[in-house]
Amino acid sequence: MAARKSVRRPKPKSKARSRAPVRISAAARPARKSAAPERGLLARLKEGPVICAEGYVFELERRGYLQAGAFVPEVLIEHPEVVEQLHLDFVHAGSDVTEALTYYVHREKLRVIGREKDLVPMNRAALRIAKSVARRTGTLFAGDICNTNIYDPADKSSLKEVERIFAEQVGWAVEAGVDYFVAETLSWVEEALMALAAIRKYSKVPAVVTLAMHKDPLTREGLTAAEACKRLEGAGADVVGINCHRGPATMLPMLKEIRAAVKCDVAGLPVPYRTNPEQPSFMSLTDPCCGNARAFPVGLDPFMCTRAEIADFGREAYAANIRYLGVCCGAGPHHIRALAEALGRHPPASRYTVDMSRHAWFGTNERIRKIQTEYRPKL
Ligand SMILES: [Zn+2]
Repeated sequence: MAARKSVRRPKPKSKARSRAPVRISAAARPARKSAAPERGLLARLKEGPVICAEGYVFELERRGYLQAGAFVPEVLIEHPEVVEQLHLDFVHAGSDVTEALTYYVHREKLRVIGREKDLVPMNRAALRIAKSVARRTGTLFAGDICNTNIYDPADKSSLKEVERIFAEQVGWAVEAGVDYFVAETLSWVEEALMALAAIRKYSKVPAVVTLAMHKDPLTREGLTAAEACKRLEGAGADVVGINCHRGPATMLPMLKEIRAAVKCDVAGLPVPYRTNPEQPSFMSLTDPCCGNARAFPVGLDPFMCTRAEIADFGREAYAANIRYLGVCCGAGPHHIRALAEALGRHPPASRYTVDMSRHAWFGTNERIRKIQTEYRPKL
């Protein structure tokens, strides 16, 4: 892609260069084959859908390598091989993108857990692992910046710190040679605009900016998602949309409004949970089985979407010309495979897609005996 050739890499500050020792599995060391894929994000979007698996922190939490609540991927230092395998699993299932796990690896979030000193090694580890997987698999290598949780329009010092957080994370990702950027899970459009400004200032690669819409259907400033996305498009975002927090049922109507409001490509990455008009976000879901307690974050299992529901979402969104698609927090590789297949793909994991004709009781294979099939009503 022509735009990528002209990337101007910001001169790294000497501090950012310091390297603390990080254990990386042999496979996660920089790959020899380091060329970016020939077709970049925007070329791929012209031809069809682009699938981007997200929600790594939830999956790592389920696998026992990350603490819910903090949601900081300390696993990057402690078990880098687990992060590498997770990326590979999502690519195997159909993701076109390997996104660096720098979500919440920013200065403010590391302060909350007392690991600010690990800021640089954690960012570099995330970028190195994702790049290695991307270059080996021919997927796009995406950088990631996200909500800082300190943005406050009335507090100038917080705005300065937000600017610093975005600048340094964008800088490290540019040095790593990302193919494009994702700025995600932003519920203030002004904070999203700051993230976009940092990407525009320090890089020349495309920018995907996705807002997080909570139970309140407006951004924190009071704009609709469509109005906010129009502003992001006007400020130079290549792809705009929504990720996280809302399930397919309560995100899709907003995505269609965004689609009608902007000219650029639109991104939709819901959480795989059954949200509804009364409880439209996964943080608002309550579980009637457990005294109507808040299900977020570790009691969401009963609300999990089936693969068919994710496939339906993918088909309906793509039919509405929403082309950058994925699943966020809660997604497993099986959701990504379902999405990929719904969009006409046949990823390597499709080798194992369900085939009930071979089942011991429900099967239609000629070897399945009558003594089994006749017993079906009693199963
Ligand atoms: Zn998410």
